Amino acid sequence: MPSISSRLQAVNARIAAAARAAGRAPQAVRLLAVSKTWPAASVRAAAQAGQRAFGENYVQEGVAKIAELADPGLEWHFIGPLQGNKTRQVAENFAWVHTVDRLKIAQRLAAQRPAHLPPLNVCLQVNVAGEATKSGCAPADLAALAGAVAALPRLQLRGLMCIPAADATAARAAFAALRQLADELQSAALPLDTLSMGMSDDLEIAIAEGASIVRVGSAIFGARPPASQT
Ligand SMILES: *Cc1c(COP(=O)(O)O)cnc(C)c1O
Repeated sequence: MPSISSRLQAVNARIAAAARAAGRAPQAVRLLAVSKTWPAASVRAAAQAGQRAFGENYVQEGVAKIAELADPGLEWHFIGPLQGNKTRQVAENFAWVHTVDRLKIAQRLAAQRPAHLPPLNVCLQVNVAGEATKSGCAPADLAALAGAVAALPRLQLRGLMCIPAADATAARAAFAALRQLADELQSAALPLDTLSMGMSDDLEIAIAEGASIVRVGSAIFGARPPASQT
């Protein structure tokens, strides 16, 4: 099996090629390495190969890994479903949260973000396709949520995030819709700079539609073992 380092290089090459094909600068797209279910040793291998930003889906698992690695050079992003009883651990341990989809969660994060840390970077998760089973704010409610979150202390509203269906046509439509929603918020004077969209299988499509962060797991670390916790 190829090493994490060579897989990482291949993913970075895909990102650069997709950016160039879209007429964008390769540096305009950041790679978030999704390390959920992988041990700290895998993160360390990726870090040694130059990767800095890592994404985790499960609060307990992520917090344990952050403590085990204890590397201030790494930047940790929480990208999993976020319940009210887990917000404190996220506010105290992560630099970014991509999955804020209601005001109550944002208020808790704002109240719990420690004063000695920089503001917590926030993306709002949007259920662009209106899928009943998916979490995420409805597009119709997004402007109100964004305005309210932008006004909270200790949080920095950075942008929008989506997790569309796996099928490429639907994904492209969802990515385009997310970008459109971000453009509308920009016109409403919210200074967003982030579109968190695209994963191992569809990062090229996401970059063509304007992604600024792609969240890539299996293409870097390999096929995931079954999740052991939630
Ligand atoms: C697991 C996960 C990813 C990475 O998925 P891959 O297909 O392994 O690249 C990206 N985003 C979220 C929210 C995830 O849960």
